[in-house]
Amino acid sequence: MHGRLDRVDVQAKGGSAVRVLDYKMMDAARLRNKLKEAGEDVQLACYAYVYEAEEAAFISIEKDKVIAVAPPQDVAELAQANIARLLEVFAQMRSGAALPAHGAEEACQYCEMRGLCRKSEWNER
Ligand code: SF4
Repeated sequence: MHGRLDRVDVQAKGGSAVRVLDYKMMDAARLRNKLKEAGEDVQLACYAYVYEAEEAAFISIEKDKVIAVAPPQDVAELAQANIARLLEVFAQMRSGAALPAHGAEEACQYCEMRGLCRKSEWNER
Protein backbone atom coordinates (compact mmCIF):
# COMPACT_ATOMS: atom_id res chain seq x y z
CA MET A 1 0.00 0.00 0.00
CA HIS A 2 1.35 3.43 -0.85
CA GLY A 3 0.07 6.97 -1.10
CA ARG A 4 0.32 10.35 0.54
CA LEU A 5 -1.53 11.37 3.68
CA ASP A 6 -2.68 14.88 4.51
CA ARG A 7 -0.99 14.89 7.91
CA VAL A 8 0.89 12.62 10.32
CA ASP A 9 1.57 13.83 13.88
CA VAL A 10 4.29 12.13 15.92
CA GLN A 11 4.57 12.75 19.66
CA ALA A 12 7.56 14.93 20.49
CA LYS A 13 10.22 14.43 23.17
CA GLY A 14 10.96 10.74 22.79
CA GLY A 15 7.34 9.61 22.53
CA SER A 16 6.28 7.34 19.71
CA ALA A 17 2.51 7.90 19.55
CA VAL A 18 1.35 8.57 15.99
CA ARG A 19 -1.86 10.23 14.83
CA VAL A 20 -2.96 10.26 11.17
CA LEU A 21 -5.30 13.00 9.94
CA ASP A 22 -7.22 13.55 6.73
CA TYR A 23 -8.76 16.93 5.89
CA LYS A 24 -12.26 16.92 4.45
CA MET A 25 -14.38 19.78 3.11
CA MET A 26 -17.42 18.05 4.58
CA ASP A 27 -19.56 18.62 7.65
CA ALA A 28 -18.73 16.74 10.85
CA ALA A 29 -22.11 14.96 11.06
CA ARG A 30 -21.59 13.36 7.65
CA LEU A 31 -18.07 12.25 8.60
CA ARG A 32 -19.32 10.83 11.91
CA ASN A 33 -21.85 8.85 9.93
CA LYS A 34 -19.14 7.49 7.60
CA LEU A 35 -17.19 6.23 10.63
CA LYS A 36 -20.11 4.87 12.65
CA GLU A 37 -19.96 1.28 11.39
CA ALA A 38 -16.56 -0.41 11.69
CA GLY A 39 -15.24 -1.36 8.25
CA GLU A 40 -17.51 0.93 6.21
CA ASP A 41 -14.83 3.56 5.72
CA VAL A 42 -11.41 2.14 4.89
CA GLN A 43 -9.39 5.31 4.34
CA LEU A 44 -8.41 6.11 7.95
CA ALA A 45 -7.97 2.43 8.76
CA CYS A 46 -5.48 2.07 5.87
CA TYR A 47 -3.57 5.16 6.98
CA ALA A 48 -3.48 3.93 10.56
CA TYR A 49 -2.18 0.54 9.45
CA VAL A 50 0.65 2.02 7.36
CA TYR A 51 1.82 4.31 10.17
CA GLU A 52 0.95 1.94 13.05
CA ALA A 53 -1.02 4.87 14.42
CA GLU A 54 -2.94 4.73 17.67
CA GLU A 55 -5.11 7.67 16.70
CA ALA A 56 -6.78 8.70 13.46
CA ALA A 57 -9.33 11.33 12.51
CA PHE A 58 -10.96 13.22 9.71
CA ILE A 59 -10.68 16.97 10.10
CA SER A 60 -13.95 18.54 9.01
CA ILE A 61 -13.50 21.99 7.49
CA GLU A 62 -16.78 23.71 6.87
CA LYS A 63 -17.21 27.48 6.63
CA ASP A 64 -15.68 28.82 9.87
CA LYS A 65 -15.64 25.47 11.74
CA VAL A 66 -12.80 22.97 12.04
CA ILE A 67 -13.76 19.76 13.89
CA ALA A 68 -11.80 16.52 14.42
CA VAL A 69 -13.96 13.42 13.88
CA ALA A 70 -12.37 10.17 15.07
CA PRO A 71 -13.69 6.63 14.60
CA PRO A 72 -15.60 5.44 17.68
CA GLN A 73 -13.73 2.10 17.59
CA ASP A 74 -10.19 1.32 18.73
CA VAL A 75 -8.02 2.58 15.84
CA ALA A 76 -5.34 -0.15 16.04
CA GLU A 77 -8.00 -2.91 16.03
CA LEU A 78 -9.83 -1.17 13.17
CA ALA A 79 -6.60 -1.06 11.15
CA GLN A 80 -5.88 -4.76 11.74
CA ALA A 81 -9.41 -5.85 10.86
CA ASN A 82 -9.34 -3.71 7.72
CA ILE A 83 -6.04 -5.08 6.44
CA ALA A 84 -7.15 -8.65 7.16
CA ARG A 85 -10.30 -8.04 5.10
CA LEU A 86 -8.32 -6.44 2.25
CA LEU A 87 -5.89 -9.35 2.13
CA GLU A 88 -8.78 -11.79 2.02
CA VAL A 89 -10.57 -9.87 -0.74
CA PHE A 90 -7.41 -9.51 -2.85
CA ALA A 91 -6.68 -13.22 -2.46
CA GLN A 92 -10.23 -13.99 -3.63
CA MET A 93 -9.84 -11.67 -6.65
CA ARG A 94 -6.50 -13.22 -7.58
CA SER A 95 -8.09 -16.64 -7.51
CA GLY A 96 -10.79 -15.50 -9.92
CA ALA A 97 -13.73 -14.53 -7.67
CA ALA A 98 -16.51 -12.71 -9.53
CA LEU A 99 -16.88 -8.98 -8.93
CA PRO A 100 -20.57 -8.18 -9.23
CA ALA A 101 -21.58 -4.52 -9.28
CA HIS A 102 -23.16 -3.57 -5.94
CA GLY A 103 -24.02 0.09 -6.54
CA ALA A 104 -27.22 1.50 -5.09
CA GLU A 105 -29.88 2.00 -7.75
CA GLU A 106 -30.27 5.71 -6.85
CA ALA A 107 -26.62 6.21 -7.82
CA CYS A 108 -26.55 3.73 -10.71
CA GLN A 109 -29.35 5.43 -12.61
CA TYR A 110 -27.15 8.51 -13.16
CA CYS A 111 -23.75 6.82 -13.23
CA GLU A 112 -21.59 7.30 -16.31
CA MET A 113 -19.60 4.15 -15.50
CA ARG A 114 -22.52 1.80 -15.96
CA GLY A 115 -21.08 0.48 -19.20
CA LEU A 116 -17.82 -0.41 -17.46
CA CYS A 117 -19.15 -2.16 -14.37
CA ARG A 118 -21.88 -3.85 -16.42
CA LYS A 119 -24.43 -3.48 -13.64
CA SER A 120 -27.29 -4.31 -16.04
CA GLU A 121 -25.65 -7.59 -17.10
CA TRP A 122 -25.03 -8.60 -13.47
CA ASN A 123 -28.67 -8.01 -12.60
CA GLU A 124 -29.80 -10.36 -15.37
CA ARG A 125 -27.96 -13.32 -13.79
S1 SF4 B 1 -23.49 1.85 -12.39
FE1 SF4 B 1 -21.84 0.51 -11.67
S2 SF4 B 1 -20.11 1.87 -11.24
FE2 SF4 B 1 -21.95 3.13 -11.36
S3 SF4 B 1 -22.66 3.28 -9.23
FE3 SF4 B 1 -23.74 1.58 -10.19
S4 SF4 B 1 -22.51 -0.23 -9.68
FE4 SF4 B 1 -21.21 1.55 -9.29
